Amino acid sequence: MKKINRRRFIESSVLAGAGITLLGKDSLAVEKPLYSNKSERPVVITTWDRGHEPNIKAWEILSKGGSSLDAVETGVRVAEDDPNNMSVGYGGLPDETGVVTLDASIMDWRGRAGAVGYIQNIRNPISVARKVMEKTRHIMLAGEGAKQFAIDNGFKTENLLTEASLKRWNQIKEKSKDTNFRLPNDGHDTITMLAIDEDGNISGACTTSGLAWKIHGRVGDSPIIGAGLYVDNEVGAAGGTGIGEAIWRSVASFLIVEKMREGMFPQEACEFAVRRVIKVSDKYLSTDGQAAFIALNKNGETGAYSVRTGFDYMLTKNGETKGIKAGYELK
Ligand code: ASP
Repeated sequence: MKKINRRRFIESSVLAGAGITLLGKDSLAVEKPLYSNKSERPVVITTWDRGHEPNIKAWEILSKGGSSLDAVETGVRVAEDDPNNMSVGYGGLPDETGVVTLDASIMDWRGRAGAVGYIQNIRNPISVARKVMEKTRHIMLAGEGAKQFAIDNGFKTENLLTEASLKRWNQIKEKSKDTNFRLPNDGHDTITMLAIDEDGNISGACTTSGLAWKIHGRVGDSPIIGAGLYVDNEVGAAGGTGIGEAIWRSVASFLIVEKMREGMFPQEACEFAVRRVIKVSDKYLSTDGQAAFIALNKNGETGAYSVRTGFDYMLTKNGETKGIKAGYELK
């Protein structure tokens, strides 16, 4: 046996022991995943426990044999329509100029993706993102173009700034008026939903009004495929919430999916990503910044983890929805 072949043989044996097979020169395939084989599906997991309605609506679709794509779109639309949820859609907190700008992305089991960034006056950006995915040869539309595309596709325009959001904006402006600083980041959260359907197909949806009081024109991680959301139907899906710049720097959702591909459980992969985010994003997370992730694998197993305390999520299995507090890294 030549030296090089012997090395590859040893590598192959080690990897085979770990359930991984070397296919060709450069390709690795997970033959037998390192996680358990029990298959629990359908499953829905969503960032933040702000009322179970989004998961319940998604479950209604999945329990009738519907697709994970329809489930996640329908589920997050519930949050977008809810004026009491002030971090997405209608009633989302505005930027520092008092304008509501929204970001969203969607991805399905076929690897298709659609997104909108900095869109205004359209309450359901997730559905515009789906239209971009299904009706164009592009992945993302932004700003005026995204809005015009939405109008052309039958979406109605409206003022998204509710009285409650305007009140919060006025209060924060008043509080910050004696300082030279820009308005502080004190209100944000993204609704990211991942689902696997009866057929084992995975999709994800991510929607947000972004960081409250952000600089006008800022776009966060949520519409960036790989940062705020990623789906690979061979492996699983992941999505995030928190300071978008920190999540984006680490392309964290893609990182989580790749770690699951290498054999990590969803929980381990989320913990790995949180540590990476802390390592590369000190500037954003050193005071009280939060970043948090959820993940779902092909077996319907889930994970969640955050930088700091305070992150919770909703999990639906067997028709039952629970709010769960996630573990966190910085104690
Ligand atoms: N990730 C969002 C953004 O940075 C905000 C959040 O989830 O809290 O736009």
